[in-house]
Order: sequence, then C-alpha cells, then structure tokens
Amino acid sequence: MQAMQDGRSRRSSLCSLGRRKKMSKVAEVFYLANELLASIFKHLNGFELCTVARTCRRFRDASHIEEIWQHLCDRDYGASSLRQWPEGTTYRDLYINVLHKYGYLLGLWKCDVNPYGGLVYIEIVQGGIDAFDCRAPLDPDITSVLRRRRIFSIRIEEGKSVVLCYSSWDDTPHYATLHKEKIDGKKVVRFYLQCSNQERHEFPREREKGMQFLRRWMKDEYDNENLLFYQPHMIQLVLMKYVNMHSMHRMPIDFEALELPQQTDEELVIKPGIFKGTYSSHGVELVMVTFSSAEDKILGIKITGDPNVPEGKLTFEVDLRRPVIEELPVSEGQQRPFELPNVIEARFTDFPPFYQAKYHGAGQIASHGFLSPRMTPGVFVLFNDDLFGFLWSDLMAFSVYSRANEPYLR
Ligand SMILES: [Zn+2]
Repeated sequence: MQAMQDGRSRRSSLCSLGRRKKMSKVAEVFYLANELLASIFKHLNGFELCTVARTCRRFRDASHIEEIWQHLCDRDYGASSLRQWPEGTTYRDLYINVLHKYGYLLGLWKCDVNPYGGLVYIEIVQGGIDAFDCRAPLDPDITSVLRRRRIFSIRIEEGKSVVLCYSSWDDTPHYATLHKEKIDGKKVVRFYLQCSNQERHEFPREREKGMQFLRRWMKDEYDNENLLFYQPHMIQLVLMKYVNMHSMHRMPIDFEALELPQQTDEELVIKPGIFKGTYSSHGVELVMVTFSSAEDKILGIKITGDPNVPEGKLTFEVDLRRPVIEELPVSEGQQRPFELPNVIEARFTDFPPFYQAKYHGAGQIASHGFLSPRMTPGVFVLFNDDLFGFLWSDLMAFSVYSRANEPYLR
C-alpha cells in the first residue's frame, strides 16, 4: 500500500514536472526534460518504469531512453555491456526480455538428478545467460578447479528470448523451456528445464558410435580413453552414469536453489563451504560442509552422489566433542605428524605430513541403490582450513577433501 502511494505521488510529481517544462522553449525543454526525466527514472525499477511509461506519451517516449535501461541493467543485474548480443539489441530489450524474465536464474543451483546430482552456476555472459554444470576435477586431483560445461543458455533470437539446450555430443543447441516451480517470498527456489528434443541426448544405437562415446566418457571421467586400462566395474559405473545423465532429458530436470553456508565470526574448526573429495572408484564428488551447533558436529552433505550414497545424503558427520586422544601426546607448539597406515587405501596422497586436529566421526555407506544404509566409524583429520581427510575404518579407505575456491562459491 505504502509502495502504491509512493508510486502515485512520484507519478503526479513527474507529471507536473512534465507540464511545467512544456511552458518553456520547445527544443531546449525537451532536451533538458529528457535528461532530467532520465535521472529521475533511473531511481525506479523496471516494473515501475513500465507503469510510468503507460501514463502519457511524454513519459512513454522518455522511458525509452537507453541510458536509463543501461543503468538499470547494470544496477539490478550487473550487465554492463551489449557486446555479442544480436545487432540492434537495446538495453531495454535486454532488461525486459531477458534479465527481468530470467534474472531469477542467476546464482547457484543443485541439479536434482538421482543419484548423481550436480552443482550448477548460472551467470550473465557476453551475449546471454549461461548455465554451467560445475563438475568435480578428474580423479584424484582434488586440488584442481571445477570443470564447467554449459548445459543451457538464454539468448535473443529475432528479438525474442529463447532457451537453448546443449547435448554433450552435438555442437548445435536445440530449444527447451524453463518453468519456475516454487517461489519462496520473492525468490524462486526451484525451476525445471524441459528439453524439446530429447533424441539429441540419447545414447547412439550403432555399436561403433556407442563405443566412441564410451571412450569419450572414460576420458571425461578418468582422463584416459583406452578401455583396456580399466577394470570392468569402472566402465560399468561410468556407462551407468552417462546413460542415466543423458536419458534424464526425457523428463523435466529439476534445479533447486543452493544456499552457501553463512560465514560467521565464530571460531570454527573449519570454515564451512563446498569441498571436492575422493570416493574411490566413484571418482571425485562435491560435498557441502556445514555445522550443527546444536549437536556440535561437522556435517558433510553430498551435492553430487553415486549409486551407493546419492546426492543430498549425509556422507559423514564429525563429533567435535570427541577429539582423538593420541597415544604419544605432543607438546605445545609442536607439529603433530600424520602418517597413513599402509593397509589404508587412498586415492589422493599429496597431503601434508602434519595435521592440526583429529575427531571421531561416522561415515555413511550403503549398497547400490542406497540399500541398507548405515553409519560406520571414522576419523576426521584436519590438515588446514582448505584440506581435511576422513578415514573410513570399515572400508580401510582414506578420503581427502579440498576446498572449492572458485569466486562464485564464496
Ligand atoms: Zn535438450
């Protein structure tokens, strides 16, 4: 109500301003008035500006001033260039047809494809909005950056915005549609992508072509396309994953807003955030590390998962009330050496020879299909704020986790 009243009073003052200006010398007034109006209109949002434009021809004409829309594009969405947009695209087109319509997409999302999941970052790029699947680095190189692959984008074609869907083996994109599904207050917290050409994602039926894709996938997962290099179960895992990921386009794909943990001034054992961790033959997976202050625990929740423990599930918890008491205590200020017993398998071994803290915890394991899930004992080993390990006692395996330090994850 208050906003409406504000809008009305702003509108009436703008109208009287327009009337006053008509009384002066025409050319001069129109020049000045446009400048003046533009500086006033810049304080509105896109919706208010369109409302004002409907009140009279004078305001409608003034509301088309590009400078205003350029300011709005930059202020509201950080879009400050029209480079690589189709020729003739104006900032007004950009704001109304693209940013206002699809601005809700910008940010981090979790792809809800069971069991693999996915981390998706959507940003304004030159000439459009792009959605990137941010994949974990190649196994076991957890310190490398995330690998981004474009999955869909928003572009302007013939003056209209379109959604383009990309298949990993087809260079030409095809059309898709987006639907907002759930809105929490003003924020969209779930949307889905409906591909309009599912065949473009399907696994090829022809044997030779199929083998060619399988080799490409193996290279994508393990950086080696020679199938003789792998044990059959690894090929099977990759095959299962990719056939699943490609057939997912038959159904609308769900995306759920991903909130990063709030940073606090509190002294924490490790700063919360997204980590890349080794999961033996499942490769590197992404885990959100948070705190439960009520239970005094560190929690690791999977953002990407595997057929055993899927995305969205707890992978480990660390009980901060149960530090590991070492048999040989070290004196104050002395570094604590860390050595992994030979019997323990580790994919990533380039961790420091010293650790800062150890706590008892529990790691979740399950059979394929998340059958018979159970928490098994484990030990959390903190090396530094960006690196920790988790020893799965029952599996005799040591996972190492490295912080994902990409600017959009901070
Ligand atoms: Zn598609």
